[in-house]
Amino acid sequence: MATSPTGTSQYKKARKRRLHQARAQGTERCPCCKVKLDYDVSLKSNNAETDHVIAYARGGQDHVDNLAACCRGCNQSKGDRPRRP
Ligand SMILES: [Zn+2]
Repeated sequence: MATSPTGTSQYKKARKRRLHQARAQGTERCPCCKVKLDYDVSLKSNNAETDHVIAYARGGQDHVDNLAACCRGCNQSKGDRPRRP
């Protein structure tokens, strides 16, 4: 399947739940680069995003348990490969 994982309503729902969870748990920094996450403002490099723990391309699901909160910068540069901080 070549469909984008980010466009589905299932992903959007899971993403919203995951970000809500991360915020409620007090996740303030990106686990990769330790930048302070911004949950309110979109389209900034430290904007809180969700990353697939198991990449969609490798069979990962659009489920809240397979999403990790990280910054937009890391999410965009990572792709489906593991990334070192
Ligand atoms: Zn980061």
